[in-house]
Amino acid sequence: MIFDPQHRKDNRSARVSMALFRMSQAIKKVTQAESDALGLSPVQIQALLFAAYTRSDAATVGNFAGAIGTTHVTAVKIINGLVRKGLVTKAQKLEDRRVTLLNLTSEGRVIVSQLKTWGHSLEEALQSVSDEALADFELGLGAVISAMQKRGQLVVAEPCLGCVHFHPNAGDAAAPHYCGLIQKYLTHEASLQECPEHTPSIEV
Ligand code: SF4
Repeated sequence: MIFDPQHRKDNRSARVSMALFRMSQAIKKVTQAESDALGLSPVQIQALLFAAYTRSDAATVGNFAGAIGTTHVTAVKIINGLVRKGLVTKAQKLEDRRVTLLNLTSEGRVIVSQLKTWGHSLEEALQSVSDEALADFELGLGAVISAMQKRGQLVVAEPCLGCVHFHPNAGDAAAPHYCGLIQKYLTHEASLQECPEHTPSIEV
């Protein structure tokens, strides 16, 4: 087990797992401190950022639950807290009334505009690491994320570019791109939003 130092001594994957666990603890601490300053919890901020940067028809409670790795019930509680604060509204999806879409209110958009530096402590901490070391780390982390994604432990939302389902410039001027998965034409702006169903065309 990764918490046993003797086991870590002879096992690289255990050492890396422990390093990732320690990093997750540190990230939790810095994001908590930055969130306290805004009077919101880190998950509430994640919910606002999810609503702001996810393609509007994919900004659902279910996808938010997947994005933060929690249950639907917990995600609903987080969202209801933001609804009570007047930062988010909920609406049923026209095509499927069991699905709840999230939208930022104007107050919610103001808060999101104040979040430009949220997470900066983490970026600052990495600035002392050499570019070469960061490049190696990025490659390694990509492989770890991809492995966890394949095991269903992580959802990585990305814009359309680089997705296996993306057909750029297949439509008209109003909706120039096509998604083979949802079988819809997309505006250019929608293709730049994050999509939880992004499937990389190149294996990491
Ligand atoms: S599945 Fe891929 S192409 Fe379709 S909307 Fe999502 S990212 Fe874009």
